[in-house]
Amino acid sequence: MERIGVGKGSPEGTNSAYVFPERKVVIDPGPPGKDSWQQLKDGISAAGLQPADVSTIFVTHWHIDHAGLAPRLAKIADANIAMHKADAQLVAEYGDERERRVERDMQNLEQWGVPENIIRSVRDQDTPSPLPDRIPVRELSDGDQFNGLEVIHTPGHTSGHASVTVDGQLFVGDAVLPTYTPNVGGSDTRIKQPLQTYYQTLDRLQTREEIAYPGHGKNVSLGDRIDEIFAHHKKRSEQVLGLVQKQGPVTPWEIATILFGDMSGIHVKLGAGEAAAHLTDLAEKEDIEFVAEDPDTYSSKK
Ligand SMILES: [Zn+2]
Ligand SMILES: [Zn+2]
Repeated sequence: MERIGVGKGSPEGTNSAYVFPERKVVIDPGPPGKDSWQQLKDGISAAGLQPADVSTIFVTHWHIDHAGLAPRLAKIADANIAMHKADAQLVAEYGDERERRVERDMQNLEQWGVPENIIRSVRDQDTPSPLPDRIPVRELSDGDQFNGLEVIHTPGHTSGHASVTVDGQLFVGDAVLPTYTPNVGGSDTRIKQPLQTYYQTLDRLQTREEIAYPGHGKNVSLGDRIDEIFAHHKKRSEQVLGLVQKQGPVTPWEIATILFGDMSGIHVKLGAGEAAAHLTDLAEKEDIEFVAEDPDTYSSKK
């Protein structure tokens, strides 16, 4: 197995693609673009496989920095793209699904109390990527095995996020990252209880014994890193609870601006989404109360 660093680096860091020359498998080919395409092709060749001989492309989740080059590689190699069924559609029908996704995101921003002018600027910056409108994607489920791969559904960062084991190694995509805490809440607005969903995934991954390889960066010590991520969210949750108690009725956007300051572009969605995820979780545990919608408003318990 060889790791290929692809792309210039998103907020999460440079993407990691992985190639298995004997199995003719590539995991998470990387973000679209001329330079990243060259990096990917060079990396596959350096590992001893011709890019045109790739047969399976496994994509951990629908985000463009992971899925972006999959259609292009699939086309030159006549390879199959395989993804968990809950995310597959967002790549298979990129044209229509992207429009739906933008609509859904904007509705959520409105619900979270983000001001209209900021919502407009987020929408303006959310431009289409160069992906085909339609491409076949094989839909997988938790536990599926093929080509020596085994699929583990690890939702939270996205609804259909999947990790995969190959030859005793575990590829975790953006479920656990070495230096950046994976976004939960803004990274896939389809998930109703994003934090709880993600905690279940972390619990599940914590029982794994394999060496783990993340979707950004080189490797990650799974047990230690999961402890750190749990600690981060516990602290954040206490912080959010304290703010609700101090500020009175608040929206996710108000919490996000206190936590993260000025935000623009995708950071609006990630920041407001994270605040909303914590508020939803606190309300679910009955630490705070959901008091109004349009926008969603939370208050401390009387
Ligand atoms: Zn991601
Ligand atoms: Zn990523």
